[in-house]
Amino acid sequence: MPFAATILTLYPDMFPGPLGMSIAGRGLEDGVWSLDVRNIRDHAEGKHATVDDTPAGGGPGMVLKPDVLARAIDAATLQGDTRPRLLMSPRGKPLTQTRVRELAAGDGVVIVCGRFEGVDERIIEARNLEEVSIGDYILSGGEPAAHVVLDAIVRLLPGIMGNDASGSEESFETGLLEHPQYTRPREWEGRKIPPVLLSGDHAAIARWKRKMAEELTRSRRPDLLEGRNRDEKA
Ligand code: SAH
Repeated sequence: MPFAATILTLYPDMFPGPLGMSIAGRGLEDGVWSLDVRNIRDHAEGKHATVDDTPAGGGPGMVLKPDVLARAIDAATLQGDTRPRLLMSPRGKPLTQTRVRELAAGDGVVIVCGRFEGVDERIIEARNLEEVSIGDYILSGGEPAAHVVLDAIVRLLPGIMGNDASGSEESFETGLLEHPQYTRPREWEGRKIPPVLLSGDHAAIARWKRKMAEELTRSRRPDLLEGRNRDEKA
């Protein structure tokens, strides 16, 4: 069974969008994963097909109605559907490569894209939604976040990447940022490729990569090293 992604959105035309191109697009064409995009508005009621309403207690903007979202989610998830249900949300747990790997190992995901001020809190509990954030900034809607989540998952699916090793050497996979990369020409605008990389000495190259990865991580993301030490002690 291919990895099955379902998206609930008010802007279905945003999909597949970038996911229809390059690695993810090829995977979609080859049937490595499937994409089911559903319009939340199809589950609205009334002449105006209202999906949102003003926030209880006052405040700016509009809130997505729980009844409409519930109908959309229920229609998209038949009984026995055990796929994780993610709600894109700046208040969610920040997405990590570890969570991406877990999701990629499963059957698929259902992703709910918020808009406006967000969704009625009750739907989160009632439909067991896992709030996921892609970073500490505010997007105008969950759709670009859903692109990010799916892009990260799909590139890990079996049969997607040409060179399987390239999935496991990236930044974060080792708990470190990746070492710098170079390619031809050997010298460009007076700048040379570090000689060790051209030495053919595989052990020396591996040591250099490791040292650079550690130095970069220490200077840019010391928080990653702290996380590593904690894991190693545990
Ligand atoms: N009022 C909310 C922000 C709403 S932004 C708050 O202050 O928390 C509108 C929608 O965009 C959200 O419902 C969510 O689906 C999406 N979104 C915005 N920023 C996001 C982020 N950093 N990660 C994931 N989704 C995000």
